[in-house]
Amino acid sequence: MQEGKELLRMVDVEFSYPGSKTKILSDINLHVDYAEFVGIVGPSGTGKSTLLRLMCGLLKPTKGKVYFRGEELRGPNQKISMMFQLPNLLPWLTILENVKLPLISRKDMSEEEKEELAMRFLDLVGLSGYASAYPRELSGGMQQRVALARALVVLPDLLLLDEPMSNLDPLTALALMRELEEMWFDSSLPPASVVMVSHSIDEVIQLSDRVLVLKGRPATIVAELKVELERPRNRKDEAFLRLVDEVMMLLS
Ligand code: ADP
Repeated sequence: MQEGKELLRMVDVEFSYPGSKTKILSDINLHVDYAEFVGIVGPSGTGKSTLLRLMCGLLKPTKGKVYFRGEELRGPNQKISMMFQLPNLLPWLTILENVKLPLISRKDMSEEEKEELAMRFLDLVGLSGYASAYPRELSGGMQQRVALARALVVLPDLLLLDEPMSNLDPLTALALMRELEEMWFDSSLPPASVVMVSHSIDEVIQLSDRVLVLKGRPATIVAELKVELERPRNRKDEAFLRLVDEVMMLLS
């Protein structure tokens, strides 16, 4: 891992959806370093998901540029994975087949290697016992963990998380967050860096090294905060609560 080096950069990015005159994002300048966990907060409908889709090449900026590992990003890249609010598993495939899916076109790997890798990540999210089950047999929280395994199976350098806990009940959300935190502590695991969008300020401060505050119409980054609290973080700590207040003030 090339710690300290830059993984992704957005330069003067502006975005409107094709066919629409409404500018969603403007003047977006940001970077994500290797080994960094960046959180993005902002009110609902500001453009956080849009920003993540620009970071993974699913959308193209109307103006400006996105660079990934120093090269302009011109479309989806195998080394960038995204996890959405909903697991989006294919109901007719088993859990193992769902996790293996992103590897389907890889010619440099044998079927056994693909299966081994998929099993490794299913095991990591505690679901290796469900490899031959179908999505309908799993709870929402378990399906979201399968989606995490599927996002990791390509060994991404950058993992983009779009409110991954927002559709889960609070206890399941907390369990998934702990899993993400543990994964983050284990440097032998991918990804190198994570960008997580959330409307939960607590979640973002719990996990991030740096928090970007997105606000306005069109939206832009109005503030950037470093979170220098020791990990694992305690949500009841005074310093933690102070940071939550600070972000709330910036958003209000
Ligand atoms: P957030 O993730 O912060 O809730 P989004 O990025 O989903 O915000 O949406 C930002 C704005 O872009 C919203 O006003 C939304 O209505 C608009 N938008 C989202 N997707 C599309 C689309 N496919 N076409 C046109 N407008 C869209």
